[in-house]
Amino acid sequence: MLIDTHCHLTYEGLEERQVDVVQHAASAGVNRMISIGTHPADHPRVLETIAAFGQVFAALGIHPHHAAEVAENFADELQWAIGTSPKVLAVGECGLDYHGNSASPEVQKKVFLRQIELAEQLQLPLILHVRDAHDDALEIMKHHSQVPFVVHCFTGTPDQCARWMELHAYIGFTGVITYKNAPDVRAACRLVPEDRLLIETDSPYLSPQAVRKIKPNEPAFVAHVARQVAAERGWTLEQTGAITSANAARLFGSALAQ
Ligand SMILES: [Zn+2]
Ligand SMILES: [Zn+2]
Repeated sequence: MLIDTHCHLTYEGLEERQVDVVQHAASAGVNRMISIGTHPADHPRVLETIAAFGQVFAALGIHPHHAAEVAENFADELQWAIGTSPKVLAVGECGLDYHGNSASPEVQKKVFLRQIELAEQLQLPLILHVRDAHDDALEIMKHHSQVPFVVHCFTGTPDQCARWMELHAYIGFTGVITYKNAPDVRAACRLVPEDRLLIETDSPYLSPQAVRKIKPNEPAFVAHVARQVAAERGWTLEQTGAITSANAARLFGSALAQ
């Protein structure tokens, strides 16, 4: 069994054909997935999705791209939405993204910190989105090391990966690991401890190399990520599925593995 630990079934390209997407995933051996809600208007749609599909779980948060859009008391809405279903397994994705110009670092940090506090309060794991901001994100998480968390869609260097390992982070690998121009990501994959490695699609984005022309990406294609991880680690595909699914269940809860 494979688990896609990070997808966006409510995003354009997937939301219109969720039934097909979930069925396609099942026929590829992907029997569980976590659909991530990234802003207040997205949260109700994610909650509808997990109510409709037994195989789909959720995480809800405010993506750093949306950090400047939320109200001062956004965490109240977020806490309420999380509390509406036991299938919401985590807070996030949240974090820091200095790649675009979506929100200032100050605003991003404030919204990020509030979500870390919420995860601590609710005793839920955190899903981190970190892009071009590893130093700041590491500095913040150093002070919150009791919260279990994953750095999703890891695209940093092996050195940055090693620094996350000091904080016992889980690391999520996407289709990026299959791209020719990503030797650093494959090197990072080889150094993550066996019990900290997760696989994901981040669909509808980042179609793996073998299906790169097929857009949107979808959870079924996490099998391509698993195949690349297997090659890097010298594991069989079965081992890769068993190891990464056990890791996902340890981080997000045993409901995922049933
Ligand atoms: Zn992300
Ligand atoms: Zn995402």
